[in-house]
Amino acid sequence: MSKYYMIADIHGMCGGVFSALRKLDETIAGADGKTVFVLHELVHNTAVTAEYEARNVCFTDDINAIPGGAIAVIGAHGVDMQTEALLRSRAATVVDATCPLVKKLHDIAASLEDDRELVIFGKSGHPEVTGVAGNSRAGKTFIVASDSDIAALPELKRPYFISQTTVDAARSDTALNLLKERFPQLEYSAGVCDASFKRQNAVIALAKRCPVVIVAGSAHSSNACRLQEIAAEHGAKSFRVDSHEEIPGEILEKAPLIGITSGASTPTRAVDAIIRCLTEHGFVPAQD
Ligand code: SF4
Repeated sequence: MSKYYMIADIHGMCGGVFSALRKLDETIAGADGKTVFVLHELVHNTAVTAEYEARNVCFTDDINAIPGGAIAVIGAHGVDMQTEALLRSRAATVVDATCPLVKKLHDIAASLEDDRELVIFGKSGHPEVTGVAGNSRAGKTFIVASDSDIAALPELKRPYFISQTTVDAARSDTALNLLKERFPQLEYSAGVCDASFKRQNAVIALAKRCPVVIVAGSAHSSNACRLQEIAAEHGAKSFRVDSHEEIPGEILEKAPLIGITSGASTPTRAVDAIIRCLTEHGFVPAQD
């Protein structure tokens, strides 16, 4: 029996991630051998983090673990302005690798008047959401992740809605519509970034054609996890793997057609390794 694979039209690293990697590379090159400290992970990928750790980069979620006078980088998910100010007061050099699209959400949150309420659709505790919420000048800020969270909101007078950049775009739309029903005066801005949106649309197309979809990306990558969930919602048996070694043996033996995609923080080499693995197990590229 022939076995085939096909690759999502759009997948893999986005512009924001490439920019963050370039900034860290340039910082390492100029560090003269000194340790470079990164506040939070640069991007949410285990292999990328391990690679930089081997190059004398120290990732930490604890700003107090960054010594005075250090060279520091802010990860792509950003931090709130108080944390950035504290970092700048203690580090000798601070390089900001926050994605500009996350910065845009920071600016929106910081521009809200104190008689408003900010509603963020996203995952509580995710660094991006923490940074946006921390920058909010609205009188109240709420983080919602589900219909029931929205139903549980109190009455809001001047609500403003944004979503985390990497959430499921369809779910963000549903949340927005629910909020509009409850609060007709709601104002909002698009939050899901173009890179996430395009990768989600591409995985929907892939899941409609492939009974099995493999998503390359780490378990703590929001956008990779969303791709896996979306593929499953559109009918595919879907798996998220950090590396080809995690692909279930049964899939390699029995799946007739496998779709492959990868998250916005996943290096190309992870997808290349998956393709090599499938090829070794007898898979060939599917013809359109
Ligand atoms: S996924 Fe979107 S917000 Fe996140 S780094 Fe990429 S472009 Fe920026």
